[in-house]
Amino acid sequence: MKKICLLGATGSIGKSTFELVKKNPDKFKIVGASGHAHFPELEIIAQEFNIPHLLNTKESFDYADFLKKCEPDIVLNAIVGFTGLKFSIETLQQKIPLALANKESLVAGGKLLMQLSQENKTPILPVDSEHSAIFQCLNTSPHTDFKKIILTCSGGPFWGKTKKNLEKITIAQALKHPNWSMGAKISIDSATLANKCLEFFEAMHLFGASKNQIQIVIHRESIVHSMVEFPDSSIIAQLSPPTMKLPIALALNFPKRENYNLPRQIFSNLDLSFRTPDKKVFRTLELLEICTEQMQNFPIVFNAANEIAVENFLNEKILFSQIFDVLEQTIHETKLENPDSLEKILEIDKNARVLAQKFIRKL
Ligand code: NDP
Ligand code: MG
Repeated sequence: MKKICLLGATGSIGKSTFELVKKNPDKFKIVGASGHAHFPELEIIAQEFNIPHLLNTKESFDYADFLKKCEPDIVLNAIVGFTGLKFSIETLQQKIPLALANKESLVAGGKLLMQLSQENKTPILPVDSEHSAIFQCLNTSPHTDFKKIILTCSGGPFWGKTKKNLEKITIAQALKHPNWSMGAKISIDSATLANKCLEFFEAMHLFGASKNQIQIVIHRESIVHSMVEFPDSSIIAQLSPPTMKLPIALALNFPKRENYNLPRQIFSNLDLSFRTPDKKVFRTLELLEICTEQMQNFPIVFNAANEIAVENFLNEKILFSQIFDVLEQTIHETKLENPDSLEKILEIDKNARVLAQKFIRKL
């Protein structure tokens, strides 16, 4: 029985986790959970799941103390955005294994988190489906270096559209992902492909990959969740129907593989397609190249400008296509800096947000 502390319990990953736990009460028990704006809803769910410890992050709170009281075997960080970083750090500092959905943590604080994980001998288990796939592929040959990571990407709701088409996108259209049902922020990120850029940085940190070792490939069906090529040119892929419950269960229960009663892949009449992404339409990919060329503070700036742009799009302050403009302008104004401490990371993030807001006011 795994005792879980679930951060971001009121979100989409949180909901999938509750469903998984409900169907597998002999394997998982939630001993602590956090909620933000929807905390009152969490209080109701907590009665059904008999959760002893709750954290309301909308009010003043002490996560370090909360974690000590929960005494979990593992923390699942499913909070959205940069704000999740401090929770990831504290979890690793207390030497509690971290199942990580909050990719922004790794994008902004990758070096710090990987270092903490190593020093404290505490694992970071990826929950993001692509990274879970890569992690599984790498585990087939644990002592062999890999040649390349093939990071698959569904292409989101606007794959095949022209640059002109993207000017007239509504919020409802952007939120409607063809294969996954997710929170608002990651849904917009999937529509601009900023999500794939964040995942690129995430993979660089998690697997120690250089930018030349990762290739983004459009795979509309979301069945191959990513692949790894080895030195002998063999390629290992991980396949399954698109449900987050599988990577969540794997991270929570690693290295065990059990029957969680999840949907199974049927191989009759199945076509799998792979295409090269269009960087001219999805300009986030061009910006990714600039950022991976520089690294240092650039991923933090990319993430911060993106969070501001998405928030403003969802509040109807900017158009969909202007998300690309905000990112582009913020990154072009960025000078190389070394994010060598948490204080520096926080400062870089804050300054990038101010800069992005300044561009938005001028639009
Ligand atoms: P949601 O928006 O559905 O949920 C976000 C969660 O974070 C909610 O519980 C929310 O609380 C909480 N939260 C929001 N702001 C704060 C804050 N300032 N402090 C603390 N908690 C906060 O997002 P998702 O579940 O879709 O995604 C969560 C993370 O997982 C993201 O980083 C995303 O990129 C990643 N991920 C998600 C996938 C998916 O399929 N959904 C797939 C792969 C990765 P409340 O609602 O109460 O305000
Ligand atoms: Mg993903």
